[in-house]
Amino acid sequence: MFVRAFLLLPQIPLDISELMFYTIVTRTCVCEVTGMERSILHVDFNSFYASVECLHHPEIRNKPVAVGGDVEQRHGIILAKNQIAKQYHVSTGEALWQARLKCPDLVIVPPHYELYIRFSRMAREIYLDYTDQVEPFGLDESWLDVTGDAAGRDGMTIAREISRRIKYELGITVSIGVSYNE
Ligand SMILES: [Mg+2]
Repeated sequence: MFVRAFLLLPQIPLDISELMFYTIVTRTCVCEVTGMERSILHVDFNSFYASVECLHHPEIRNKPVAVGGDVEQRHGIILAKNQIAKQYHVSTGEALWQARLKCPDLVIVPPHYELYIRFSRMAREIYLDYTDQVEPFGLDESWLDVTGDAAGRDGMTIAREISRRIKYELGITVSIGVSYNE
C-alpha cells in the first residue's frame, strides 16, 4: 500500500547544453509505508516514450505530442503523450483520430523502440549502482530492492538520488515510489 506525496527537487545550475534538455521539473513521487525491514523502490518514467521523443526533437517539445502506433494507418492508437497533450485530455489507448478531434495540433510521432530500449538500459545501469536486485516491468518501470544499502542510505535518499541522476544523465524524469515492508 502506498501513500503518495510529491516533492520538488532543488534546482541545480546547468550549463547551456544541459539546459536545452532539462527544463522539465522533476517530481519525485515518494510513497511511504511504515514498517521496518525491507526497502523497495518502484521507478516509473513519466510519459516515457513521449519524453524520449521530445528529448530527441526539441522543436516539438513545446507542442502537444503523442507517440502513436501505425501513424500511416488510420487505425493507429495513442501509446504515450506528453504533458501538453494531456491537458487536451489525449489519453493512452485511444484512436489517433479521436485524439486529433480533441487536439487538432497534436504532433504524432511513430514509436522508436530501439531508442526506448536504450534508455531503459541506461536507467538500469544507474539502478545497478545501488542494488543488484532489479526487476524490470516493461520498458519504463522497475522494482528495486534497496534493503540494507552498504552506504547506509534509506530508500527515500536513494530514490531522490536516482531521480536526480536520471534527470541529469538521461534527460527525462521518473516518479519513484518508496515502500518499507517486511
Ligand atoms: Mg510510466
